[in-house]
Amino acid sequence: MELEFLGTGAGVPAKHRNVSGLALKLLDERNAIWLFDCGEGTQMQILRTNIKPRKIEKIFISHLHGDHIFGLPGLLSSRSFQGGEEPIIIYGPAGLENYVRTSLQVTKTRLAYPLQFVELSEGIIFKDKQFTVECMLLDHGIDSYGFRVKEADHEGMLLVEKLVALGIPAGPIYGKLKQGQKVTLSDGREINGQDFVGESKKGRIVTIFGDTRFTSKSSEFAKDSDVIVHESTFNKNEAKLARAYFHSTTHQAATIAKEAKAKKLMLTHISARYLAKEAKELEEEARDIFPNTQIAKDFDIIDIPFS
Ligand SMILES: [Zn+2]
Ligand SMILES: [Zn+2]
Repeated sequence: MELEFLGTGAGVPAKHRNVSGLALKLLDERNAIWLFDCGEGTQMQILRTNIKPRKIEKIFISHLHGDHIFGLPGLLSSRSFQGGEEPIIIYGPAGLENYVRTSLQVTKTRLAYPLQFVELSEGIIFKDKQFTVECMLLDHGIDSYGFRVKEADHEGMLLVEKLVALGIPAGPIYGKLKQGQKVTLSDGREINGQDFVGESKKGRIVTIFGDTRFTSKSSEFAKDSDVIVHESTFNKNEAKLARAYFHSTTHQAATIAKEAKAKKLMLTHISARYLAKEAKELEEEARDIFPNTQIAKDFDIIDIPFS
């Protein structure tokens, strides 16, 4: 499980930062990519990575500002040319389907794959055996959402080699042992399944926020995240501006990560006013509150290991 930042800028594209786009790479988990927001030029950014558009299975759009959606019709169209035949499900606020379908219709674009839309509302918007995605409404003037992606816990594997070494042959008994049950063998030996099941692993949690003002409920929503991705359009001294423009500061994002007891904070949606040196200063500001903070740059790849 990895995050790859495709665009980390705010509002308009800059030479060193494209507008919003973020890939959650679930290649080992489900051979798929989930894309979060798709600002203009996202498909050009993807060309500079090893991401294959046909592997994009789901697209989550936080809100309908142009810097988060102007790249979507183009990406969908190119995916069709590049041999994408698998359906895509797009999760976004009301109005997104109209925007996408109108763009495709006006440009007479026919996709070679089915497109399905799910309109966002608060609560669980997707759940299967592997992952649950939950949504929270943020504070951004227009409807903007955060996404909490939670992986299901991995059960411990049955230590088959250990069983074979003890001369316990495969059979229905393996199922009982895997559930941790105690079993008496035909030769009278008592076997405790718990001794033959490997460690279980806690599922990972990634919380990705759309553009927003600081809201106190964000930390609860992002509780225990392995990684939080939060916007940081303004520096710590610009809380008034951040409030006026419905955005957040470094300190506000870091406060959320701290209160959520997250493991790592990635700051994104960085204004073009901040060049490399100034961006470093933003990082330092956030680290005063939450030490494991990193300012995302375009093409940064963050591995998300099991804890
Ligand atoms: Zn934005
Ligand atoms: Zn916005």
